[in-house]
Amino acid sequence: MSMILNQDQKDLVALAKEFMEKEVKPHIYELDEKGEFPLELYKKGFELGFHSMDMEEKYGGVGLDYNTISFVLEELAKVDAGFAVSLTLNGLAFSCIAEYGSEEQKKSVSERMAPGGFMTFALTEADSGSNAGALRCSYTRDGDDYIINGPKTFITNGKYGDIHVVFATANPEAGVRGISAFIVEKERAGIQIGKEENKMGLRLSNTCDLFFDNVRVPAANLIGKEGLGFKLAMSALDKGRIFCAAMATGIAQGAFEDCIEYSKLRKPFGAPIATHQAVQFILADMAIQIEAARTVTHNAAFLAQSGAKYSKEAAIAKTFASDMAMNVTTDAVQIFGGYGYSREYPVEKRMRDAKIFQIFEGTNQIQRQIIANAILR
Ligand SMILES: Cc1cc2nc3c(=O)[nH]c(=O)nc-3n(C[C@H](O)[C@H](O)[C@H](O)COP(=O)(O)OP(=O)(O)OC[C@H]3O[C@@H](n4cnc5c(N)ncnc54)[C@H](O)[C@@H]3O)c2cc1C
Repeated sequence: MSMILNQDQKDLVALAKEFMEKEVKPHIYELDEKGEFPLELYKKGFELGFHSMDMEEKYGGVGLDYNTISFVLEELAKVDAGFAVSLTLNGLAFSCIAEYGSEEQKKSVSERMAPGGFMTFALTEADSGSNAGALRCSYTRDGDDYIINGPKTFITNGKYGDIHVVFATANPEAGVRGISAFIVEKERAGIQIGKEENKMGLRLSNTCDLFFDNVRVPAANLIGKEGLGFKLAMSALDKGRIFCAAMATGIAQGAFEDCIEYSKLRKPFGAPIATHQAVQFILADMAIQIEAARTVTHNAAFLAQSGAKYSKEAAIAKTFASDMAMNVTTDAVQIFGGYGYSREYPVEKRMRDAKIFQIFEGTNQIQRQIIANAILR
């Protein structure tokens, strides 16, 4: 890595590397084939704090800054992006509470999550993905409670979520102003776990439908105030996009390292393919793209950490890094030739994992819209 890391960052990256190489990597082929969620491995990750990297220390988390988290996420995703995504979803969900929640909410959620567990960010519905403001999951006030009703789809960690951050509307006609966010603990009666997705990639991560059937939560579980939900979701996603960019960079870095090793060994005409300029230039282009993605990612992370506006830069980082990861992993398959297309070699998985980063947390078309709006404002 060409960036200068301080000693703490180096130590954390080394810890992430050792954990992923020793604990997770040996099982990836089988877990990816089966699409299995390795709960016991996640629990080992909890012991090292990978699920609470951005939770403040006073709440029992690790309390890292955004640049350091990005370095660690890159390292986790270099080995398995699905594993990294499930862990980072906790940060996405908790940031809604950290930014807009009451002190009571921060304490009660962190007390439960800091020792280990999963959170979900339940925004998407079957007919409201890119257009999240059109969601239909509803809530009504009933005395000292709120009652939540409706389906959510594609929810990461859905089956294993201990605490769900659920976005619902009081009145679909009110558009985004009708949306509020609620903390819904898994014990609340009426939470149904629906279909689990059989996905192209991220197969070590769980993605499923959830249904909230008259789920009653105390009024104290409302995050911030009524009508704040959409703003809160968009703010969390800004931050999440930086972490998406870091993970996409990690996928590409992993593919790049695979290619360097393979191109020095593979000798179809008696000499390593790395001696051909055509292959060298693909490797050089990979290095250029990865370095550029890492730079825009850390620029957005730095802005976010400094308290500056960073929505546009987070969208740029997410879009650039995920498009880059798709390009680099596709080229990696090319460098491996026929073996690149085989499941026995690692690069086709990286290509499958890379694709989702162009889609979730706002598709890259929506990101370009955000960037264009910011430029033309
Ligand atoms: C593995 C996985 C994990 C996920 N995890 C979560 C999660 O934890 N929580 C959560 O809430 N959601 C999650 N999602 C949902 C994800 O964020 C949505 O799938 C995504 O936002 C896109 O929404 P959609 O699938 O409805 O696509 P659509 O909105 O139907 O878009 C379809 C296509 O149309 C394009 N398009 C749509 N509108 C426009 C426009 N205005 N201009 C230009 N192009 C447009 C899109 O870019 C896309 O190419 C996850 C999805 C997956 C697959």
